[in-house]
Amino acid sequence: TREIQLASRPSGAPTPDNFRLMEVDLPELKDGEILVRNTVMSVDPYMRGRMNDVKSYVPPFQIDQPLDGGAVGTVIASRSDEFAEGQSVLHGLGWREHAILPAARATAVDTSDLRDSSYLGVLGMPGLTAYAGLMAAAEFQPGDAVFVSGAAGAVGSLVGQIARLSGASRVVGSAGSAAKVERLIDLGFDAAFDYHDGSVRDSLKKALPDGIDVYFDNVGGDHLEAAISALNVDGRVAMCGAISQYNATEPACAPRNLALAIGKRLTLRGFIVGKYSDMRDEFLSVVGPWLADGSIQWDETVREGLENAPQAFIDLLAGANTGKMIVRL
Ligand code: NDP
Repeated sequence: TREIQLASRPSGAPTPDNFRLMEVDLPELKDGEILVRNTVMSVDPYMRGRMNDVKSYVPPFQIDQPLDGGAVGTVIASRSDEFAEGQSVLHGLGWREHAILPAARATAVDTSDLRDSSYLGVLGMPGLTAYAGLMAAAEFQPGDAVFVSGAAGAVGSLVGQIARLSGASRVVGSAGSAAKVERLIDLGFDAAFDYHDGSVRDSLKKALPDGIDVYFDNVGGDHLEAAISALNVDGRVAMCGAISQYNATEPACAPRNLALAIGKRLTLRGFIVGKYSDMRDEFLSVVGPWLADGSIQWDETVREGLENAPQAFIDLLAGANTGKMIVRL
């Protein structure tokens, strides 16, 4: 079987030579383990941080070892009573065609009505990030004017749609191309802009002349600075990600206007989705029906083949995806 290993650590943007496609033998299944043929795997921005040798909330990838991450597949052999052959499971051993893992580390998923990949996106980690980040980290209230960056991505596109369906007074998104901006309007955003077109500060002023109450930050940098200026009194920021800085080789400038947070009584709350795992049932009960009745739409950008997973990841960081970037194996 084949797997992708970390060949070297990137400096700046990752390149194909940081990855290595390897042919490896599968060990024997032990008691309590399952063998899964992965059908889809996720590439996510947080994996960029794991390519660095630094301490964080998830341990770094190791050189000459396979990468890992979210995947869904079919059990093809089982030495556990929990799973029979043919069962679809979600687990954490992506970046490989076959995975062997203890049954306790896999979750059964129902792929009869929903695509396997939805458990890596809209119903999975990015979906919960959007819901919990908006509701818990940003303490969203109906009537709030919401701005979300990275709005055409997996998390951002859901944040905007959930906010609109939950009674936001206005929902605005930023993204990196005209086509993405158009898609956001299709998804029901009240306004959207390409952050390459002039300053974020000016675009925000135009799109939200009355200011914003909630900023869902996927990008950091000048987006965060512009949002701090545009936030109303008692405004809240869910600090979800700072993708504009993930490939940086020098520490970024703090928002130069951070002191505005004092007078405006702003809350800036960083969060990690894992902290909100107890909100999964609430998330599914609220968002599930919206998915079923078509109120929420979700996009995917799909690449084929394990050998193309490194490029899919590189392209994700460069904005080639609309919605969730998925690799089908
Ligand atoms: P996305 O699907 O949004 O993909 C990443 C997107 O980031 C790209 O498509 C690109 O779109 C955008 N981007 C890349 N570089 C820049 C830049 N310099 N400035 C602005 N935008 C840029 O990924 P996810 O939805 O999976 O993740 C979105 C964010 O949420 C990330 O920051 C991620 O780290 C974070 N996250 C945090 C979690 C948590 O628990 N805190 C959990 C999951 C995700 P464009 O064309 O618009 O530039």
